[in-house]
Amino acid sequence: VPRPVAFTAPEYQPDGSIRPAAYAFAGDTANGWTVRRDGREHLRLGPGYRLLEVSHCGICATDLARRLLPFPLPQVTGHEVVARDEAGQAVVVEINASHAARGLPHEGWCAHCRAGMPSHCPDRLVLGIHDLPGGFGPWMLAPVDAILPVPAALSPRTTTLVEPFAAALHAVHRLAPRARERIAVLGPGRLGSLVVAALAAWRRRSRAPIGIVAIGRRADALARAGDLGADETLDVATLADAEGIADVVVETTGSPEGLALALRLATRAVHVKSTTGQPTLGLRHLTELVVDEVELLPWRPGDPLPAAATTVAVHPSVPADVRAALAGLRVLDPHAARALPLGGADLAVAADVAEADAMLRPEAGVERGAVRARGTILCVGDGDDLVGTLARRRVQLGSSRCGDFRAALDLLVEPTLAERLGERLVTDVVPAERLADGFARADAPGAGKVIVTHPGASLGARV
Ligand SMILES: [Zn+2]
Ligand SMILES: [Zn+2]
Repeated sequence: VPRPVAFTAPEYQPDGSIRPAAYAFAGDTANGWTVRRDGREHLRLGPGYRLLEVSHCGICATDLARRLLPFPLPQVTGHEVVARDEAGQAVVVEINASHAARGLPHEGWCAHCRAGMPSHCPDRLVLGIHDLPGGFGPWMLAPVDAILPVPAALSPRTTTLVEPFAAALHAVHRLAPRARERIAVLGPGRLGSLVVAALAAWRRRSRAPIGIVAIGRRADALARAGDLGADETLDVATLADAEGIADVVVETTGSPEGLALALRLATRAVHVKSTTGQPTLGLRHLTELVVDEVELLPWRPGDPLPAAATTVAVHPSVPADVRAALAGLRVLDPHAARALPLGGADLAVAADVAEADAMLRPEAGVERGAVRARGTILCVGDGDDLVGTLARRRVQLGSSRCGDFRAALDLLVEPTLAERLGERLVTDVVPAERLADGFARADAPGAGKVIVTHPGASLGARV
């Protein structure tokens, strides 16, 4: 490999268009790297990154809606990456460049990395999303401990799905299905199909007796969901008056209508699995809720509090009976809560969506909540808004984003999945120089997974 490496990479612009830029990476794993863009220094990375040559990269909804996310542009996007290391070994790459993922000395780790939540490391860069150049370019710099070899059992097409499958499996772990529950997946498109497959693989492995239902509009998507493990498929058109038909609904459409329907259909929990950046049902910071994996929990004085919680952020207006019921916890105002080691309290209290928004992002322009990552907002209202509806109907709203690759690979090597997932989900293979065409195909109604290839990728163009 010549050093520095110099190459042209497609950059995603603030208006959603794609333009090429000249990049160069110089440095090494021990001393760090300098990223130059169009001849100027663009980014300095510390130690703990390895140079990889990308072979292919999937396009996901986050890439299509990237301009709506709160991270700087332009950017070389693409985070569902398959690459080769210097020995030619095919690898996949977890996307969070945290202190832990970079393998830095333990003394320098942040509280999140030390607490086992490296995907919430406040100093992290995120591959193809937040500064770190992504897999739609031909070369990338990947955190050393985020790089995993591809098992021989996986077909090349299934390999491109490791990242989104890990995210789907993480949702299954976070929503923690209970015995005999019926879990519905709303919108079995690219991500929804992976959630169905993850639920089915998790069920086969754990032997937990759960039912899996796919709810959608398109017959082809419902048939595919059946193929990937749904026991039952429902056309959304038949659900106009339906209520409470599943214990848990996983919302993967990313639309406000989808979330409203999920709330109507669920009796225990709704799990939000999409980040479109749009305000939804009055909640301005839904995307931030998903990014921070915060949960909204119906709660009234006398209900048990989430285990292990020791701190709670409350507004001054919190009712006296609520405050009294929180007496065993350290009670802080939202601004004081942000000084806690994990950057926020374990719990917060909100009586309406405005209060929930204020707990998710108390200060304009500061990407930090008064409730910590994977914390819980107790919903105490009884109004008609989202918070009041959850509280009244006793339905919780959880969220999740990227997941653990080791757990994903462990399930994906099953013969039932190793071949079938890629064959069923990947519909288009497009060379990287036609990225805009790939985006257009991925954005078409009913599109499957579109994969971008770099020279030398062994995927073939067959569809
Ligand atoms: Zn993605
Ligand atoms: Zn960290």
